[in-house]
Amino acid sequence: MITFYPGPSKVYPQVGQYVQEAFESGLVSANHRSESFMKMLRETIDLLKFKLAVPDEYEVYLVSSATECWEIVAQSLVEHASLHIYNGAFGEKWMEYTQRLVPQSFGAGYDFNAAPAMDALDVPVSQVICFTHNETSNGTKLPDTYLAGVRQHVGNVIAVDATSSMAGVMLPWYDADLWYASVQKCFGLPAGLGVMIASPRAIAQAERVGERNHYNSFLFVRENFLKYQTPYTPNILGIYLLNRVMQLVQPIQVVDGSTRATAKIWYDFLAANHYQLHVENEAVRSDTVIAVRASAARISYLKTAAKEQGIILGNGYGADKETTFRIANFPAITGQEMAILQGFLVREAENPSHE
Ligand SMILES: *Cc1c(COP(=O)(O)O)cnc(C)c1O
Repeated sequence: MITFYPGPSKVYPQVGQYVQEAFESGLVSANHRSESFMKMLRETIDLLKFKLAVPDEYEVYLVSSATECWEIVAQSLVEHASLHIYNGAFGEKWMEYTQRLVPQSFGAGYDFNAAPAMDALDVPVSQVICFTHNETSNGTKLPDTYLAGVRQHVGNVIAVDATSSMAGVMLPWYDADLWYASVQKCFGLPAGLGVMIASPRAIAQAERVGERNHYNSFLFVRENFLKYQTPYTPNILGIYLLNRVMQLVQPIQVVDGSTRATAKIWYDFLAANHYQLHVENEAVRSDTVIAVRASAARISYLKTAAKEQGIILGNGYGADKETTFRIANFPAITGQEMAILQGFLVREAENPSHE
C-alpha cells in the first residue's frame, strides 16, 4: 500500500532498520538518566536545530504530541486569555482545548480562502495569539509573509501549531515565539513525539506566568531539557528514530525547495485534469496537504477505487469530511509514488462515473 494520508503518514523506509538498530544497541532498555541517553538526546536536539535552521537562541523540548502542546500553551503560557485565529478543525480544537483550561480564551474564525485580517489581532498585549501555520483539515496555510506582518502589527507572544508543516517547509522562526509539531507528519516518523520550540520571549512569558502544577508544565519541562533530561520516562525509541531521521534528511532549505516544487506540480496536475481544488486562493494553498473537492459520491468512489489499486487517499476532515480528499505532500513520499497516484487520477479523470 502507498499512503498519502496526512498523518499518520508514510514513514521513511529506513525507519525499519533504525528500529532494529535501537533494539540491538540496547538503547531501548537503557536508563533515561544514563549518560548514553543524555548524549543521544543532546545530539538529537543539536541535529534538529541544525537541519531545521532553528535560531541558536531558541530552545527545543520533546513532549508526546501536538495535542499535549495545546495544553502546555494553555496552562503555562496563557495568563488571562488567548486569542485563537483559525479557519479549520485543528485550529478550532486548539481553541476548545484551551477554553476548558482558560475559559476566557476566545477565537476569531476566518474564511479559508483568505488571510486572517490584521485588525482581528488588536487585543491586549498580555494575551497570547495562536495561529495554525498549516491547517491540515482543509489544506490551507498562512500566506508566506503573514507572520512577519503580524510581528510588525502587534507585540503579543505568538504561538503557532506547525504540526503538518514543520520539517516540510522552512518556518519563519523569528516571527513567532512558540512553535510545535508532532512527528507523524512531515518528519516521516511513527507517532509518539511532539517537538516544541521556544523563543526567549516564550520562555520569559512562561517565567512571568510561573505555572508549575503539572508534570508537563513548560518551566518543568524546560528545566529538565536544559540538563538533557526529561520530566518522565520518555519515548526513547521515538527520540532515537528522530535522531536517525534528522541525520538522513537534507537541510530544510533543500527540503523546502522540493516540497514547494512538488506542491506546484500537484496543483498544476490536478487543475489540468479537471479536479476541483478545494482552496481557490493560491496564496493560502498548503504546500504540504493538498485538498481536492468533489461530490460526496465521487469522493467515496475515488477512495475505494484507489484502495483497490493499493493507494490510500487521505479522508476529508471536519466540515469537509465527505466532500474532499487530501493528498499528503510530505518529504518521505517519493516521486515514484506520486507518479503512481497521478496515473490513477488521470485514468479516473477519463472515467466520469459517479460525478
Ligand atoms: C495532526 C495535527 C494535530 C494533532 O496531532 P497529535 O499528534 O495527534 O496530537 C494538531 N494540529 C494539527 C495542525 C495537526 O495536523
